[in-house]
Amino acid sequence: MTAYDPDNIFAKILRGEIPATRVYEDEETLAFMDIMPRSDGHLLVIPKTPCRNVLDASPAQLAAVMTSVQKLARAVRIAFGADGVTIQQFNEAAGGQEVFHLHFHVLPRQEGVSLRPPGKMGDFDEIAKHADQIRSALKQD
Ligand code: AMP
Repeated sequence: MTAYDPDNIFAKILRGEIPATRVYEDEETLAFMDIMPRSDGHLLVIPKTPCRNVLDASPAQLAAVMTSVQKLARAVRIAFGADGVTIQQFNEAAGGQEVFHLHFHVLPRQEGVSLRPPGKMGDFDEIAKHADQIRSALKQD
């Protein structure tokens, strides 16, 4: 498998070299808003330590990231009154992965509302507002 590239965009976010709308972090994981949201409140959860995806992650990295995924899934359900939550994760280019630092997509869903198509930049103010809703919901946890 290809080696981890420390200059991938999420590694740069972790080092604070590029901005991100952060909604949650603990010692081992970080959650921030996806800049091309496919549903309102679409966010990403990543481990703070390097791995490309599920194929090279350690059990400890997976355990930490899934614990945060659950926390954020519960928070978006509250924040958006979501009927459901979609969790997506892709492995290697052939598996649909574009950024090669392990990440899980957390997508709040409403009954009967489809995901928006991928690749469309979100509105910054909307994303900031959704991030605030998620931070507030986390405080109710
Ligand atoms: P994938 O690797 O296929 O799971 O897709 C990568 C995801 O990262 C896409 O949903 C992008 O919209 C998202 N993304 C790419 N660059 C950034 C960034 N700088 N900040 C937040 N999300 C990003």
